[in-house]
Amino acid sequence: MGFSIAAKHARGKAAKDKIFAANDAANKAAAKYGRENVVNATLGSILDEDGRFCCLPTVEQAYRALPMPELMQYAGIDGLPEFLDAVVKETCGQSRPDAEIGVIATAGATGAVHHAVWNYTNEGDKILTSDWYWGAYSSICRDMLRSLDTYKMFDKNNEYNVVGLLAKTRELAAAQDNVALIVNTPAHNPVGYTITDAEWDGILAGLETISKETGKNIVLIVDLAYLDYTGEREETRRFIKKFEKLPKELLVILAYSMSKGFTLYGQRTGAMIGISSDAGVIEEFTGINSFSSRATWSNVNRPCMRVLANICKDPALLAAVGKERDGLFRMIKARGDIFTREAKEAGLPILPYAAGFFLSIESGRPEALCAKLHEDNIYAVPLAKGIRIAVCAVSQAQMRGLAAKVKKAFDAVGN
Ligand code: PLP
Repeated sequence: MGFSIAAKHARGKAAKDKIFAANDAANKAAAKYGRENVVNATLGSILDEDGRFCCLPTVEQAYRALPMPELMQYAGIDGLPEFLDAVVKETCGQSRPDAEIGVIATAGATGAVHHAVWNYTNEGDKILTSDWYWGAYSSICRDMLRSLDTYKMFDKNNEYNVVGLLAKTRELAAAQDNVALIVNTPAHNPVGYTITDAEWDGILAGLETISKETGKNIVLIVDLAYLDYTGEREETRRFIKKFEKLPKELLVILAYSMSKGFTLYGQRTGAMIGISSDAGVIEEFTGINSFSSRATWSNVNRPCMRVLANICKDPALLAAVGKERDGLFRMIKARGDIFTREAKEAGLPILPYAAGFFLSIESGRPEALCAKLHEDNIYAVPLAKGIRIAVCAVSQAQMRGLAAKVKKAFDAVGN
C-alpha cells in the first residue's frame, strides 16, 4: 500500500461489495445482449415478472400524501413515538412477549445490528453467527474492532445445527463477558432457511443454561429483515412470544427493517427492539442505543416513520399493504418452487430453502462457478462457501431451466 493518511484501524479498508460488482457485470451483459437474454440473480430487491422494481402501491400513496413538514422536519433521536409503537405492533403481531420492551429507531436493520454490536460487546470480542451469513455482519464487526466467528449452519442431515451454535457460544462465553449472537430468521439471507419452533426451544434453553453455568451475559440479535416474506402473518411471528420469562442475563434484540416489508430499501428506516425480563436492562438499552444514534446519524428518516405510523393506525391501509405484499410473496414463492423442483430433477443440491429472497448452492469453487454461468448469461453472487441466487429478482420465465444450467456449470467446474 502507498502513502496512507488513515488512522491505523481504518487502513486498507474499502467497501468492495461482491453483490454490486456482480450486478454491474449483469448490467453490462444486458446492455450488450438485451435484458431479456440475461438472468440477473444478484440484487436483493423484488422485481416483477417484467423486471421492474416493485413498490407497494399503498406505501407509495401514503408517502406521497405526506405534507411538506413531515417530509422535511427532524424527528427526534429515538424516533417518532407513534412509529415506535407501530414497530412493536408490526413486528410482534399477536405474539408480543410478556416482558419489558424498549424500542428506538435506527438506520435500517443495519443500524440496529451496528448499535447492538457496539453497545453489547467489547473491543476484540468475537460475535457469533452461522457460516452462511449476510456479508455486512463481518464489516460491521471489523469496523468496530471486533470480529465475526461462525458455527456450521447445518449438520450432516442438513438440519439447523443447534448443537454447533451452543457449543460455539459456550466457547466464547469462556473467553468474553458478553456473547453476542446474530441469528437471521425467518427466511435467512442467503439460504432462505427459517428456524423452527423446536429449534428455537433448543436454542433458548441452551443459551439459558450456558448463561447460568458461566455467569456470562448473552445478547441474542435476531435480524428480521425478511419477516414479511415468510408465510402467514401470525404464524411467522409466533416464535417472538418465546422471548418472555428469560433470565435477565439474556437480552434479545430484534433488528427490524422497513426495506423489504414496505419496499422502502433506500429510505434507511428500521428499529431495534430490546426484550428483557428486567426493566433496568431495557432502560439501559434505550439510553445507550439512543446515545449511539445521536453520535452516529442523529435522527432517522421522518417521512418513513410517519408512513408506518399512518398505515398502522388505519386498519384498511394495513390490510391493503398486507394484500399487496402477499402478492409479492406468492410471486417469489412461485419462482422458488420452480427452482427447487427443477434442482431436484437435475440432481443439483441446494441448501434447505423455506422462503425468502435468496437461495444458495454450496460449492468449493464459487468464483469459478459464477464465471462459468456467465457463459450462459447468468449472473449470481459468489460467497465464501457457494453461490447465491436472488429469487426475488428473477422472473418465472427465466427461472425455468435455470437449475439445469447451474447443474451443468456445477459439474463442469467441479467442486
Ligand atoms: N439483514 C439482512 C439479512 C439483509 O439481507 C439485509 C438487506 O440486504 C438487511 C438486514 C438490511 O436491512 P436494512 O436495509 O434495513 O438495513
